[in-house]
Amino acid sequence: MTGQSPIFRKLLFSAVLLIGVTLLAVDFYLTRYMDGHETAQAERQLEAQGGILIGEIGRIPPAELENWARQIQQRVQTRITIIATSGKVLADSQHDPESMENHAARPEVVQAMSGQRGIARRHSATLDVDFLYLALPAHADGFVLRLAVPLGEMQTTIAEVRRRIMLASLFAAALSLVVAYLFARALSRRIGRIQVFADGLLNANFSKTLAPEPADELGMLARSLSGVADQLKNMLDALRLEASRREAILASMLDGVLAVDSEMRVTFCNGAFARAVGASMPIAERLPLLELLHDPAFLGSLMRVLVTGEPIRQRLMLAHSAGRVFEVQASPLDDRVRRGVIAIFHDITEIERLERVRRDFVANVSHELRTPLAAIRGYAETLLDGALEDPGNNAKFVQVIHSQAVRLNNIAADLLVLSELESEKARPAPERISIRDAVETALRTVESAAGVHDVRLSAGDCGDAAIAGNRIRLEQALVNLLDNAVKFNKPGGEVRLDVARSGDGKVAITIRDTGSGIPEEDIPRIFERFYRTDKARSRAVGGTGLGLSIVRHVTESMGGTVAVESQLGSGSTFTLLFPEA
Ligand code: ADP
Repeated sequence: MTGQSPIFRKLLFSAVLLIGVTLLAVDFYLTRYMDGHETAQAERQLEAQGGILIGEIGRIPPAELENWARQIQQRVQTRITIIATSGKVLADSQHDPESMENHAARPEVVQAMSGQRGIARRHSATLDVDFLYLALPAHADGFVLRLAVPLGEMQTTIAEVRRRIMLASLFAAALSLVVAYLFARALSRRIGRIQVFADGLLNANFSKTLAPEPADELGMLARSLSGVADQLKNMLDALRLEASRREAILASMLDGVLAVDSEMRVTFCNGAFARAVGASMPIAERLPLLELLHDPAFLGSLMRVLVTGEPIRQRLMLAHSAGRVFEVQASPLDDRVRRGVIAIFHDITEIERLERVRRDFVANVSHELRTPLAAIRGYAETLLDGALEDPGNNAKFVQVIHSQAVRLNNIAADLLVLSELESEKARPAPERISIRDAVETALRTVESAAGVHDVRLSAGDCGDAAIAGNRIRLEQALVNLLDNAVKFNKPGGEVRLDVARSGDGKVAITIRDTGSGIPEEDIPRIFERFYRTDKARSRAVGGTGLGLSIVRHVTESMGGTVAVESQLGSGSTFTLLFPEA
């Protein structure tokens, strides 16, 4: 990993480059310095020798010049050449002057001819060494004295020094490279550790910690990153807590919550909404809403909220949830990142039902009261109009008025009972009721009516079962049931009451009759107020249509249930099931 790290490679490359450039620079400047130094020394040496020889040369006869030059070379290891002003070589310590070419064009000779000291450095191809030439003008004798020394020895010295410098530099470079390598590797590893830690933060993985780092810039970066990690973790924890609270609130809400984006795709919803549209959780994110809710008109409303930014409130009937009615409040959701709509589905089915029940109830009560009141008013007016004097009818008319007044009284009494049952405050504290006692009282109450209708009333053994509740109300419920069983029976029919304990701590009171029975389609409705399967017959037998409604209320207020089975023409069975006290 270290070898592949770009930082590591760059650091190492920089070190190699730096060391290389330094070596080259050292080599270049040192070589030049040494060369300059050695040349200057050779020049000084030639000048000193030249100074002496130029004084000597005047005394040497021309024929001896050759020998003199050779002797001098042997003495001081310097090549001596004597050149005439024409450029012709007169004598040379190494070569035969006759075989040498004209020297007039040699730079050092040209300078000396003009009366100055001439100096030049040239490479000798024959000997493959550099030569330093010094030419001095000898005015009196009219020729030039040239001295030359090879610089070969000096170059060998420089090469040796360079070799040693190179060796030392290479050793230093190798050492520097090792140090640079170790440093780069350590740096690269530290950066690698910080990177792994930072990557962990990106994936919200806070399990990794950073080992203590040295207190340099990288160490400070690592400490800052650790601080960021702590803050990030706290923020994420807070966010998670918030999210789980929100989830819990949404999940436990009875109202459905739905959020859609600008493309009408679900961004989130809760269980209540899923239930309302008949879907099961979890609902796939970004699911097109139309696949859940096949109501283009409602989708159009949501679109309008999105476009206008104005909230709307509307009623919506959802076919999926058995025609339940919802009041939907839809508001724009503008979170800057994306626009959408949030809708709250409030189930108002029950409220609607209660409103309908209340309306029906008022209409029913009015209707129920109108009939006896109209009869009373009619007969009273007839009496006032002279029928009072009619001995054949007046007593009959007064009897009708009386029976209708009784009927009104019964309705008022039943309504009062119902209203008391519905009012929590009026409900007295439950007492222990002996079923046997309640049944005996109820049977005694309907005894005479059974006699009138020629119906045989019987009861099985009630045992010692007891339930908790209000005794008067239980007796009333039993009377209502027994009364119906008698009223809707035929002459010679039977009514039987039985009490039985079920194994699961419940006690059942069953009232079975051999009466007219109830049409199947009416069974679910007979417990509603004023509902009667046969209005005329009910009225004829003095019914108010409120009896079973009272029975249901009483039973439920004592924690029980009421059920009915009936066969049209052969009788009905009403069963009250109570938890045993
Ligand atoms: P009502 O005062 O008319 O008896 P209820 O609420 O007690 O009112 O009963 C509602 C209707 O249910 C009755 O009108 C009758 O049509 C039917 N019903 C109740 N009990 C019986 C029964 N035992 N046999 C046949 N029909 C019954």
